[in-house]
Amino acid sequence: MTEDKVSRREFLAKTSLAASTAVAAAATATGQVGAQEVEEYAQSDYSVRAKALVSVLTKKNLIDPTEIDEVIEFYETRVGPHIGARLVARSWVDPEFRERLLSDANAAATELGIERRRDLVAVANTPQVHNLVVCTLCSCYPWFILGLPPTWYKDAPYRARAVIDPRGVLKEFGTELDEGVEVRVWDSTAEVRYIVIPVRPQGTDGMTEGQLQALVTRDSMIGAERLKSPV
Ligand code: FE
Repeated sequence: MTEDKVSRREFLAKTSLAASTAVAAAATATGQVGAQEVEEYAQSDYSVRAKALVSVLTKKNLIDPTEIDEVIEFYETRVGPHIGARLVARSWVDPEFRERLLSDANAAATELGIERRRDLVAVANTPQVHNLVVCTLCSCYPWFILGLPPTWYKDAPYRARAVIDPRGVLKEFGTELDEGVEVRVWDSTAEVRYIVIPVRPQGTDGMTEGQLQALVTRDSMIGAERLKSPV
């Protein structure tokens, strides 16, 4: 054995640092997540365990790291919130499409050429109704239109509290709802995934569909935030 002996704790600490660097670089490249979220993920158990697994399985020649890179590249570039944003923006400019989206999101997604891997249900926010998506059992998520889920979506506190105290959770995300607004919480399953159609922000009347797409955030399609006017 020529390798230095490294304790499990040291190994995890080192892989955490490596993960931090890699994830931060990837997130900066895609521009889809905030710096704080990247930091939290890099230090999370998920990140450390994943990196440790990749490292061990690679050393044992059980996996090829380039194949792992391809999977990551797929989730970072080919699927992401920009796909969900297409559905939202189209629903804002085309009332008939909106009707179809809300009655049969699967067909509406197909209409836009969006590849769907699970049953999709669209729920619309209005000034009187706010929808929030969660998976209380595990972390089911409409990844085929939103990409990778945020770390907080998979964490137990969010999964438990989103159903018990959705208003409290939303407040922590910076979304304070008037008392008169009804909150509906949708629990994802292995079969059915939800997308929230946010309210079109004020001051966007003259915008093109492409400009509108750029306003739609991942968190707004989970229901964790309401879109603000861009002006
Ligand atoms: Fe789940």
